[in-house]
Amino acid sequence: MKLRTKLILAQSPLAVALALVGVVSGTVTTRLGEQTGHILADNYRSVLAAQRTKESLERIDSHALLVLAGHQAELGAGRYRTELDNELRAQEKNITESGEANATARLTSSWTTYKEVLDRFEAAPSVAERDQIYRRDLGPAFQQVKRGADDLLAINQDAMSRKSEEAQRSAERFKHLVTAAVILAALFGLAASGTLTARLLRPLGVVGAAVRRFGAGDVKARAYLQGPDEIAQLAAEFNAMADHLERYRASSLGDLVRAQQAAQAAIDGLPDPVVILDAEGKVQGVNEAAGSVLRIDADAPAGQQFKDVDIAVQALLDRLRAHVIASRAPYVPAGFEEALRIETMGAERMFLPRATPMYGEAGIVGGAAVVLQDITRLFQFDELKNNLVATVAHEFRTPLTSLRMAIDLCAEQSVGPLTAKQQGLLFAARDDCERLQAIVDDVLNLSRIESGRIDLNKLAVQPADLIDQAIDVHRGSAEQKQVTIHAEISTGCPEVFADPDRLQLVFTNLLSNAIRYSPEGADITMQARANGHSVRFDVSDRGAGIPVEHQAGLFEKFFRVPGSPAGGAGLGLFIARGIVQAHGGEIGVLASAGSGTTFWFTVPAASDG
Ligand code: ADP
Repeated sequence: MKLRTKLILAQSPLAVALALVGVVSGTVTTRLGEQTGHILADNYRSVLAAQRTKESLERIDSHALLVLAGHQAELGAGRYRTELDNELRAQEKNITESGEANATARLTSSWTTYKEVLDRFEAAPSVAERDQIYRRDLGPAFQQVKRGADDLLAINQDAMSRKSEEAQRSAERFKHLVTAAVILAALFGLAASGTLTARLLRPLGVVGAAVRRFGAGDVKARAYLQGPDEIAQLAAEFNAMADHLERYRASSLGDLVRAQQAAQAAIDGLPDPVVILDAEGKVQGVNEAAGSVLRIDADAPAGQQFKDVDIAVQALLDRLRAHVIASRAPYVPAGFEEALRIETMGAERMFLPRATPMYGEAGIVGGAAVVLQDITRLFQFDELKNNLVATVAHEFRTPLTSLRMAIDLCAEQSVGPLTAKQQGLLFAARDDCERLQAIVDDVLNLSRIESGRIDLNKLAVQPADLIDQAIDVHRGSAEQKQVTIHAEISTGCPEVFADPDRLQLVFTNLLSNAIRYSPEGADITMQARANGHSVRFDVSDRGAGIPVEHQAGLFEKFFRVPGSPAGGAGLGLFIARGIVQAHGGEIGVLASAGSGTTFWFTVPAASDG
């Protein structure tokens, strides 16, 4: 059944009640009407008959009196006699009250008597006789008829007033009856309609409750309704929708949970601490290593998560997060020197930080995943290797020096004459020995720089002295290649605050490269000039230059431009950079292929030192 039909049916008790009230009031009205009709039919006609009887009687009497007074006119009462007869006949047919039949009979007989006397009166030959008849018979007969009519009138008037009162009482009763009927019908109608409507709307409540439960998160909530109406259809639609959503939720949630567990298991499996931070620096997640090594409590409320964490670790995490968010790019450490030392479980360990941005839905960096790579073992190996290399290099030095002295003595023929061939071989051996010595020196300096052990004996030095000394050292090799070295010191160039021996190493490296890569007979310029709070030194040659793509790696360890002549280990520029940086200066290169190379570096001026 359709909802509309049901709604109409639910209202039907009210309609029935209304009809009932209608029927009751209809009946009551009819009954009241009937009562009034009865009064009219029963009594009004009799009253009319009595009155007309009296009226006609009066007329007849008046005529009789006129005749008596000598008016010899035709009595002319025939019309009234007929009327009276008619009225009496009508009255005889309308006897409704008790005593009315008797009264009517009495009236009829007295009228019959009157008519006989009247006939005699009319027939009397003389006035005297008429007068006598009138006085003796007609007058009393007249009174008799009149009384009879009055009796009839009284009976009917009494009946009328009695019936009228009765009708009034009935009307009063009917009023109560109708009122009671209206109240009962209204109560019954409302109660029945209310019950039916409530029953009708109960399914809506079932649907509503299911929707509410579903909305509150109970994905199993369904509305179970049978039937073909619209509410049952609505329930069926809702159930279908809930099934879909439940399936969708089960699948997407399940996938999400599995993905999250897999991701957590993966990062928990990593031996290196992993910390996931949001854009505000709040910890979103950590792996087990981060919990145990860094002592980060990801489950603690914001502000408590770093309670037990080292200040340096906090600062590092903040720095990496800020870097990743600002640059929208991963953070990659430049080298071992960025390693962070962390005391954990009584041992000191080294961690190299890396960070990767985590993108939100809108492509905005919403946080950073920081990995602290445990490089303790690597670091130890590196240190071991450095120590080994330093020890070996150190052990090489003394025998190399005596070897070179021995070769020198032999080559200079201080210990005996040599053939030209022998002398040539010894000169070559001396060159190799020198190169070997230079490499051993480089290696020793390298290990010093790498271990951060460069002790500087700084003092105020004139840049001109430094340059002159460097030129002096390389005069021999420059002359050998017919290269001229020019020194240009700008006026007002301040003294530098530096370790002159270490700076000589920088000059040596740059100048020996310049000589080596200069064409024969070319010029080399060495300049010094004030540069803010420091002094800038330039070493420029007219060599082949360095291709741009190789310039970035020049200062790295063991880097050599491909195709460079043999003889170096690619350590010179690395050592030069280490020494310049130890002084607090900077180093760089200006080179373009084909038009020479200029290496420059800065050293703080003495006034600032
Ligand atoms: P090496 O001891 O092998 O020369 P360096 O660190 O001193 O190592 O130099 C690294 C590389 O830089 C060299 O192999 C060379 O190719 C290049 N280089 C250095 N100085 C110059 C220069 N003045 N002109 C051209 N190339 C140079």
